[in-house]
Amino acid sequence: MIVTRFAPSPNGPLHWGHAYSAIVAHDLARGSDGGAGGKFLLRIEDIDGPRSQPELAEEFRRDLEWLGLEWNEVPAQGTRLARYEEALAALDALGVLYPCTCTRADIAAAASEIGPEGPIYPGTCRLRGPSAGAPAALRLDWAKALEITGPLSWEDDAAGDQPVAQAAPGDPVLRRKDLPASYHLAVTVDDAADGVTLVTRGRDLFHATPVHRVLQALLDLPVPRWHHHPLLLDPEGRKLAKRRGSPAIADYRTAGEDGRAWADRLRDRAWPTGISLQKAHI
Ligand code: GLU
Ligand code: ZN
Repeated sequence: MIVTRFAPSPNGPLHWGHAYSAIVAHDLARGSDGGAGGKFLLRIEDIDGPRSQPELAEEFRRDLEWLGLEWNEVPAQGTRLARYEEALAALDALGVLYPCTCTRADIAAAASEIGPEGPIYPGTCRLRGPSAGAPAALRLDWAKALEITGPLSWEDDAAGDQPVAQAAPGDPVLRRKDLPASYHLAVTVDDAADGVTLVTRGRDLFHATPVHRVLQALLDLPVPRWHHHPLLLDPEGRKLAKRRGSPAIADYRTAGEDGRAWADRLRDRAWPTGISLQKAHI
């Protein structure tokens, strides 16, 4: 049985990109008419501290209902902190974690490469140790992790078999200074706990998947398949974002528009005015 999920972070209203992502995940599991027999999960990713607005979760549910989607909701990340601690303890026992006290500015100053998420961490604290007494994040020692796991690959529906590169993506953060988990750790632990078999999300997270694949190997978690869908773009060709003025679908809902009709238009690739779909390449 196919189990997919939509995992929005409640730090802003849903826009058409979210709606598309939810519809893709829903239809892969259940079919556009709900008859396909898989499961479509909703998971609220609410551990982003002060940026998280829990009241938005209720708006998200209304939006999905308006689009005509049916889902099973699983517990929000805020209720799962003990699981993340357990996973960190297991990783620590493998000797693959180290504390990092660098600030964003430290990393920007020390980095010589820029990756999809900004400056690539050059391993400062792994090489010379963290600063005493400063708040520390925990990072994964990528090279050490790959020594343990050996060569790995993962499977994307569209892009096919993807080898996990030995080259470090910059020792990803697994526990933030201010949070008991990072996105990478939480999403990997949660997808396994929720029985997700097809991780469905935007192509903007394609580069994150090798990190998740390595964590699955280290933590002995089941390995799903992935479906990274193209993003919806604004008139300037940038991915939609509330902070760049992309409209909230809640505005269409409260204006009395027909959400099911909108969902069918997205299925037919009839995008709202000014919006286009990212070209098919990875
Ligand atoms: N919570 C993430 C976001 O809203 C999505 C995580 C995922 O789908 O893996 O960007
Ligand atoms: Zn550091």
